[in-house]
Amino acid sequence: MSDILKIENLTVAAEETELLHGVDLAVGEGETHVLMGQNGAGKSTLGSTIMGSPEYKVTGGKIIFDGEDITEESADKRAKRGIFLSFQNPVEIPGITLSEFLRNAAEQQTGKRVKLWDHKKKLAAAMEVLGMDSSYADRDLNVGFSGGEKKKAEILQLLILKPRFAILDETDSGLDVDAVKTVSKGIEEYRKSVGGTLLVITHNAKILEELSVDATHILVNGRIAKEGDGKLAADVLENGFEKYVGEEN
Ligand code: ADP
Ligand code: MG
Repeated sequence: MSDILKIENLTVAAEETELLHGVDLAVGEGETHVLMGQNGAGKSTLGSTIMGSPEYKVTGGKIIFDGEDITEESADKRAKRGIFLSFQNPVEIPGITLSEFLRNAAEQQTGKRVKLWDHKKKLAAAMEVLGMDSSYADRDLNVGFSGGEKKKAEILQLLILKPRFAILDETDSGLDVDAVKTVSKGIEEYRKSVGGTLLVITHNAKILEELSVDATHILVNGRIAKEGDGKLAADVLENGFEKYVGEEN
């Protein structure tokens, strides 16, 4: 399969400090890849850089998406191309309902108006997949939501926005077993109905069990230290990162 994302020798800095030191990464269209690494390895930095966050400065290398060099492109344009990043800590927005937020996001992504009726129909279907009570649609975004409900709201974005390339940054952290199952179900539905590509940052054994993982990348101190198939993720969960620390160069 052709690569939807190709990162070549990427170096990234924030506030004069280099955080990524020459990352190479290729993700085939329609595949599910897992990115793992110890705290502070640079996983979120890489995710934000792919999304085009102005917080991070690319000092060398390239990001190619769908055959085009997007290294210098704004986050806004990247979102229009179908690149999506879920946040590790979802924001609460009083005064805007979950439904309104998702409709706005869909309109921003396509640059077109989304009819309220169409939106409501799609939203109801997606909420059913995630086992969310329909009343959540009219509640203020994430305000008073439990951790699990916030994560479900994120997965809803996947099902409504249908991005071509989704980066999920520890979407599963702090979830109970049932919520992890629901999140996995939402991800499966996204894969099936959208045929989307995923880069999942996680250390959650349950999520990894439920997903069918095509490739695993291990980030150590701002470099990819090891790559392999789905089994590598399982190995890291069992034996830790120690043996990969020091292999990077
Ligand atoms: P991970 O997601 O793998 O835990 P991060 O990408 O969040 O790691 O962080 C990698 C390193 O970069 C950490 O040492 C972190 O403190 C540092 N870092 C992240 N963002 C910034 C920033 N905006 N400015 C300065 N340092 C940062
Ligand atoms: Mg992180």
